[in-house]
Amino acid sequence: MARFGMVIDTKKCVGCMDCVVACKTENDVPEGFNKDWITTDAKGTYPTVKMQIRTERCNHCDNPPCVYCCPCAASHVHDLGGVVLVHHDKCSGCKACIAACPYDARFIHPDGYADKCTFCIHRIEEGLDPSCVSVCPTRCMYFGDLEDPNSEVRNLLNSRKYRTLIPEAGTKPQIYYLD
Ligand code: SF4
Repeated sequence: MARFGMVIDTKKCVGCMDCVVACKTENDVPEGFNKDWITTDAKGTYPTVKMQIRTERCNHCDNPPCVYCCPCAASHVHDLGGVVLVHHDKCSGCKACIAACPYDARFIHPDGYADKCTFCIHRIEEGLDPSCVSVCPTRCMYFGDLEDPNSEVRNLLNSRKYRTLIPEAGTKPQIYYLD
């Protein structure tokens, strides 16, 4: 079984926002909301300051509290690659998933349902990369099957140091950041 995930090279991300614009266009994201975003982390004090720019979105967690807490079975794990999705027609808009997500990855769409990154599953089904990955001018994002030992994402994780966001939350995120 495939397990889709993303590997992001933080040394290559320049925060250009192309991924954000591509996502909004591809997924018709309403004004005022985002399914992906850029985070800038600065650590240390002058003159020894380290800065990291990275693109973030739903982590399509292996242990997703947003799915477990949903009273309507709207939030679910899709058979295709373990992608975490929302059945819009089943969602009551109760916001339990928004409270449960440690990454603030979800929002309530103006039409009343919880919404977030889908890894562009409509594109994956056609053998394409998610739109954010496909437009990145520095090629800092890699998408693929983490279960495939020959995939680019697996090779990167085998050869580089990486981390996930808020690992202490126990959600087992499937987006990996190369340091
Ligand atoms: Fe759910 Fe948040 Fe994990 Fe996405 S990042 S699967 S919304 S807990």
